[in-house]
Amino acid sequence: MKSSVSRGLALKRLAALPFAALAVGATLSPAQAVTDNKKQFKYQDKPGPKGVKCVGCRFFVKPNGCTIVHGKISPNGWCIAYAPK
Ligand code: SF4
Repeated sequence: MKSSVSRGLALKRLAALPFAALAVGATLSPAQAVTDNKKQFKYQDKPGPKGVKCVGCRFFVKPNGCTIVHGKISPNGWCIAYAPK
């Protein structure tokens, strides 16, 4: 009985592995880890024209990410790829 419980748990953990790998791959791919494109997109840690900020951008990923600009960004930052939500 005990072994079937632990086996079930092991199977659940195995089933979760591909998703965990995908999540890590999506956020920390090797290319992304070494490529800093902040300059390319003229990213800055302060709001852009008319006070627009990353937090209002469709590419913003809570709490400090972006699908365009790599690495950690500020919710109060801005870059030239800004697109309102
Ligand atoms: S695309 Fe630019 S403005 Fe939009 S969230 Fe990313 S860094 Fe901020």
